[in-house]
Amino acid sequence: MESQSPLVPLPSTDLDDETPARPAREAEGPVPFFGLAPEEVRTRLTDAGWQGYRAAQVLDWVYRKRVRDPQAMSNLGKSQRESLTSLIDLNLPRIHRQLGSPKGDAFKYALELRDKARVESVAMLSKRGVTLCVSSQAGCGMACVFCATGTLGLTRNLRADEIVAQVVHMLETTGWEDPGFNIVFMGMGEPLANYNSTVKAIRILNAEAGLNVGSRRITVSTVGLVPQIHRLAREGMQLGLALSLHATTDELRDKLVPVNRRYPLRELLRAAEYYATTTGRRITLEYILLGGVNDHKGDAERLAEIANSLPCKVNLIPYNTVPQLPWERPTDDAIQRFADWLFPRCPAVTLRWSQGGDIFAACGQLGAKA
Ligand code: SAH
Repeated sequence: MESQSPLVPLPSTDLDDETPARPAREAEGPVPFFGLAPEEVRTRLTDAGWQGYRAAQVLDWVYRKRVRDPQAMSNLGKSQRESLTSLIDLNLPRIHRQLGSPKGDAFKYALELRDKARVESVAMLSKRGVTLCVSSQAGCGMACVFCATGTLGLTRNLRADEIVAQVVHMLETTGWEDPGFNIVFMGMGEPLANYNSTVKAIRILNAEAGLNVGSRRITVSTVGLVPQIHRLAREGMQLGLALSLHATTDELRDKLVPVNRRYPLRELLRAAEYYATTTGRRITLEYILLGGVNDHKGDAERLAEIANSLPCKVNLIPYNTVPQLPWERPTDDAIQRFADWLFPRCPAVTLRWSQGGDIFAACGQLGAKA
């Protein structure tokens, strides 16, 4: 299986990742609300002659009361209710398709953006509470060989408002209430290849007058872009960082995760350690189990060695099969055997039987046809 994996061209990971400037919009036209930090909402409204406290009212309606229709914002004046939508755009992307798991504990949304680009988001409900999984790009340029999204290539970076809107959308459509929900950047795309929009979106989600989601409840998952990991460490937020490790030697990781050829394991693990020491948060090492590929005893031993070398926990994820791709999930016995090798050697290991597999909403299945 290993030798069959195609060597794909090295993706571009330049730090010069600015989302292309938005197409010139009418100076007077409405600005997407969900891309504005609370202070920017305030500036937008006061520039139009509104009193300062009005921004807090609007933010409260949208983020606390989950009301987006200006006509229902009863503490605004009549003229304000009428002019709000000419200043800010409170619409959410259209749902192209929505799938619910039979148990009702997972929903997958395919959202259609203005330019018809499609992104998927997943809402999951478990004993631990609500987890909302968002996309940071339409498609992905990282080309990890086992990942459904990786086979699509990159369509484009999402803007901050398109990321925040996914969260608002899921809260609205599921109606799930959980004051402590988690947000994970584990949908389509490589968040650190869309650095500026990702961090802007996180700041909006995190802002007290925004969605007020604690930074410790937000996890960015990365393929391992070293310069951006350093930069994220210095943002002054205690975000969770998950590293998609998946292999314990450069030889194998070069094949599975092509970006490893630019940032090999030694450099990557040094960046991970820097992140952990700078933020005071343990890294999560994600390790998908691919049958016959990275599930041998030697892999478990090397993984334990890596895990013991930095502040981290290990998350084992049995591979979710993707139609058209040759990779296999190990048998349940093989999965358990791997976990048993690891448990005694490792500080903290969890085995994640990911949710949503029955609706192709599990990790790495986004973009696959259900
Ligand atoms: N680009 C980010 C986010 C990607 S998706 C990253 O690479 O981390 C989140 C996780 O799902 C990653 O660890 C990714 O490697 C993993 N993944 C991809 N395809 C998968 C699959 N088919 N089964 C299980 N996990 C998968």
